[in-house]
Amino acid sequence: MATSKFTANLLRLKCTGCARMNYYTRKNKKTVERKLDLKKYCKWCKMRKSHKEVKK
Ligand SMILES: [Zn+2]
Repeated sequence: MATSKFTANLLRLKCTGCARMNYYTRKNKKTVERKLDLKKYCKWCKMRKSHKEVKK
């Protein structure tokens, strides 16, 4: 089913500073094999922090 395929690729990005889930994203497992680790602004930390991917 198309919907289950969508949710299977869904992941959350967790702030390494406050451990809050700030972003939702998807990735193509065929092209992205490494764990995501993105520098993004965290409104709770009020600064740019690295956000790591969290599964479900
Ligand atoms: Zn934070």
